[in-house]
Amino acid sequence: MPSVAGLVRPLALPVGARPVRALPVGAHTPPRLRECHDCGQLQVLPSLPPSTRALCLRCDAVLRDTAHDPFGLPLALYASAIMLLAIAAGMTLMTVSTAGQFHLASLFTGPVTLEERGLWFLGLLVMITTFVAPLARVAMMVTVLVGIRLPDPPRGLRVVFAWDERLRPWAMIEVYLLGVFVAFVRLSTMAHIDIGPALYALGALMLVMVAADYAIDRQSVWEALEGARRNRRRRVRAAAAQAAAPAMNAATQTRIGCHTCGLVSRAQDGAVCPRCGFTLHARKRDSIAWTWALSLAALILYVPANVYPVLTVIRLGAGQPSTILGGARELLDLGQWPLALLVFVASVAVPVLKLTGLALLLISTQRRWRGRLRDRTTVYRIVDAIGRWSMIDIFMLSILVALVQFGAVATVRPGFGAVAFALVVILTMLAARSFDPRLMWDAAEA
Ligand SMILES: [Zn+2]
Ligand SMILES: [Zn+2]
Repeated sequence: MPSVAGLVRPLALPVGARPVRALPVGAHTPPRLRECHDCGQLQVLPSLPPSTRALCLRCDAVLRDTAHDPFGLPLALYASAIMLLAIAAGMTLMTVSTAGQFHLASLFTGPVTLEERGLWFLGLLVMITTFVAPLARVAMMVTVLVGIRLPDPPRGLRVVFAWDERLRPWAMIEVYLLGVFVAFVRLSTMAHIDIGPALYALGALMLVMVAADYAIDRQSVWEALEGARRNRRRRVRAAAAQAAAPAMNAATQTRIGCHTCGLVSRAQDGAVCPRCGFTLHARKRDSIAWTWALSLAALILYVPANVYPVLTVIRLGAGQPSTILGGARELLDLGQWPLALLVFVASVAVPVLKLTGLALLLISTQRRWRGRLRDRTTVYRIVDAIGRWSMIDIFMLSILVALVQFGAVATVRPGFGAVAFALVVILTMLAARSFDPRLMWDAAEA
């Protein structure tokens, strides 16, 4: 096995070979058959020592990242994340004062104000991404990591862990913090600002969540959740079912890697994964059609998102509407060019790059291009990863509308452009998730 500085290359699956299921020795992981989510290559992941990263032999996707302490340290971190989230939700984020009036913002004032102004969709979106999803995530992870210590973990824990896997991209604390920072700079020209304890708690929460997600080896959790006894029972049942199945049925079965938990099973398309309970698909259903539809809808909404104002600052009765691009220019006028560049990249460049990238991936797949498969897979990974950062402007707006309510002196009203822009972000995120990069490799092979 070629192994360089903690990097392990898996072995290609020899034709007709069966994956080895050896018992774990010490902290080493058992060898496993895996399907790469990015290119569809089936490969046997050898037994791995702790702190080792295994990459796909064809496209360099990370197949597994083992840890020295896969459960203890993450549990401590997620448990502290619950406490930090409680502080962040219960205390003040910022206080602003001007002309003898003052207002304070918490994690909830933004969503509530947006809802009061009739923009319930935006309020709900901010509420889910900044509070509901992070809270659900940490609560579910603590439940799973405590339950894993039981001699025979209950089956329900797998459902909980599978949902955490699904919920991960929608918890956006780190993006929210950047939105708060941009709001802070824009507010500093209008009023005096005091930072509250909730902001420090949010900063710490972000670091703890990143550390916990980095420290955990999710495949180890899945293996522990399988439980020795249940796993043995399942294998006996599966062997009996396979012996009883007619030969014709066996011909329609293929090896499918579960997209949620990574288990490779011999199954028919549409069967239920024996480990996590989600439906198994050899490839994502109607991937090309869905990705086109969602990308085109996002492209259409990109026009009103940039033409209509995201917010209007009303000073002494006169309104100053500000579009996405206008917001970046205002920051530039304040001399905050790094922040202006950040807002421009996140809100203007990222959606355009995402839509261009998706179109390139779709066209190259449909035209069955054979070249640059690894580069195109990298494009897919970038498109999938950057989408959430466009939410900065939406989060900034949710802070400003709650804090800047000084009557005739200064008031910020949300605009229709913000709703269109939020929809663009959501639709492009869904489009990236509905694209199946394995289709590019399939098309090139055909
Ligand atoms: Zn791969
Ligand atoms: Zn599964």
